Amino acid sequence: MISALLPNYARADLAFERGEGSWLWTVDGRRFLDFGSGIATASLGHGHPHLVKAIAEQAAKVMHTSNLYRIPQAEKLAQRLVDATFADSVFFCNSGAEANEGMIKMMRRAMSDAGKPERFRLICFEGAFHGRTLATLAATGNSHYLEGFGPVVDGFDHVPFNNMNAVRNAIGSGTCGIIVEPVQGEGGVRPADMQFLRDLRAVCDEYDIIFGMDEVQSGMGRTGKLFAHEWSGIAPDVMSSAKGIGGGFPLGAVLAKEKFAKALVPGTHGTTYGGNPLACSAGNAVLDVMLAPGFLEDVERKGRKLRGELDKIAREFPTVFVDARGLGLLLGLKAAIPVGQVQGACVAEGLMAITAGDNVLRLAPPLTVTDGDIDQAVAMLRAASTKVAAAVANQAAAQ
Ligand SMILES: *Cc1c(COP(=O)(O)O)cnc(C)c1O
Repeated sequence: MISALLPNYARADLAFERGEGSWLWTVDGRRFLDFGSGIATASLGHGHPHLVKAIAEQAAKVMHTSNLYRIPQAEKLAQRLVDATFADSVFFCNSGAEANEGMIKMMRRAMSDAGKPERFRLICFEGAFHGRTLATLAATGNSHYLEGFGPVVDGFDHVPFNNMNAVRNAIGSGTCGIIVEPVQGEGGVRPADMQFLRDLRAVCDEYDIIFGMDEVQSGMGRTGKLFAHEWSGIAPDVMSSAKGIGGGFPLGAVLAKEKFAKALVPGTHGTTYGGNPLACSAGNAVLDVMLAPGFLEDVERKGRKLRGELDKIAREFPTVFVDARGLGLLLGLKAAIPVGQVQGACVAEGLMAITAGDNVLRLAPPLTVTDGDIDQAVAMLRAASTKVAAAVANQAAAQ
């Protein structure tokens, strides 16, 4: 008989009762070091006092009023995001997929308003992940996720990542724009070449098409800048955000330049509780921490430290790992054996790492991770790798 909770996930048999910083405790009292952050979402770690207080205080005042009325917390959060980014205006929603849906609608509608409704196609990349709604699945383009869900939403063309010739070849009379992740998270922690992002900006300007970025995973401080594209020195026209933006509270956003944002006039798009007072109070508390002097620089420093250790581990265990990759605190180790085996060994040592496409072990600790946490994670990873390497050697000897 089917479980009451719909069994659409292959869940690990771990249930957590409470957390503090980078650590989580199971209901049966075991302690784990969380280097997955609930898929790069618990950006301030667990139980962050400032975030907890903001949510508790707002919950006691008013949680939800709907977008029929002004929401001061949303106005404040939008203004702060505008001040900190390329964007002129922000739309709030509840998830990454929803942010991408809003971004796709904005891009298409802006092109239509410009008198070119036939230009609705978006160029996306192999290895992308944009969400699980019907349109964002089509943007994701992974046949494995699309199977059995009927006709694929039309208007998404996929080309190889980091390949400018393929992008140029794909641009046609029906092209509306391009959507790229500055770091492909789900696809295997693969950063875009910075020159590739600059070239995408140039080609969008050349053809007068819209440059969209999905920073749902790479944004909100994850790489040591508020948004990862800042490393390349260029900015998109429109961008989605979610995951770390609410620190674990569901919140998503579309950030856009005025020229494109103005396409979504009243009646064109909406959500019942997107950007409600509670969610935006969480978002403001997250920004209070992230925009404090030195926070992002420290994320960058800690990312470099962890990356240095991962490079060492990759070299020490060539039968287990191929190489280390990633940017900031969105890091990965490409495994030489099925990655699930490595992940299982990490969990046995008390380290929660997650996996990504391309057989990659993904490490995305809270941005508040301490140097001591990193040292412990590296020790656990090394212990796990030692055991896995021994198992690999035994298997080879038995054959
Ligand atoms: C997680 C993710 C999404 C989807 O976000 P949900 O909140 O799960 O809908 C979209 N794009 C990227 C890059 C992501 O990492």
